[in-house]
Amino acid sequence: MLHNGTFDRAYRNDGRAALLNARFAHSGAIEVIKAVYREIGKVAMVSSFGADSVVLLRLIAQVDRNAPVLFVDTEMLFDETLEYQVRVADMLGLTNVHVIKAGNTDFHDPAGTLHETDPNACCSLRKTAPLQKALSHYDGWISGRKRHQSGTRARLNMFEVEDNTPRIKVNPLALWSAQDTARFMKDTQLPRHPLVAKGYPSIGCAPCTTPVAEGEDPRAGRWRETEKEECGIHFVNGKMVRTGDTT
Ligand code: SF4
Repeated sequence: MLHNGTFDRAYRNDGRAALLNARFAHSGAIEVIKAVYREIGKVAMVSSFGADSVVLLRLIAQVDRNAPVLFVDTEMLFDETLEYQVRVADMLGLTNVHVIKAGNTDFHDPAGTLHETDPNACCSLRKTAPLQKALSHYDGWISGRKRHQSGTRARLNMFEVEDNTPRIKVNPLALWSAQDTARFMKDTQLPRHPLVAKGYPSIGCAPCTTPVAEGEDPRAGRWRETEKEECGIHFVNGKMVRTGDTT
């Protein structure tokens, strides 16, 4: 149950998110990012350094290279992701990347097989809980989610409120199409995650990500053969939302 103060702040933020959505409905991503740093307070970008992550990272670097970037290392990621994270941060000159780890996985998942028996618990242990702890120091966070990525993201807004927290969540690329992303990558000559060329349009942890066949939903390779669709990092209207994650 929320303390009254927290509820009041969340309620106020809900109205604030609606106002921000109306105000920035026709704004570009850079304009939104600048406004976020100017008006929301202490804000972190959360990045998986996945398939398209370099786009938002590039825009953030354009606004402020010292802006905080949180990267959750579940200790189940592809080696390619870890290498790509260091390479991209270096290339963009990002000086404030925080690598977040759960820290207690040896106790709760000593064999590293929790993802096989209870993937929700595994995501909670390795992603959601450590990220929520890290985000507790911030007033808002920025994610790279987009409407076109899956049907469950089709109604994504640029500004959302997590009303179990006082934070505002911002999706500056919510309205970008796949073509917008491809054009930006081409114009800026940004390097893609190396696994994209191997058939991975969405990249999470190694045990839970498979390549995707042509015509499949880009996120079809995530937790394939299960009903799970999202890592559970996103909280909207007080609920852990299975319609969005950072990856
Ligand atoms: S994606 Fe898989 S391995 Fe990674 S935290 Fe979730 S269940 Fe665990």
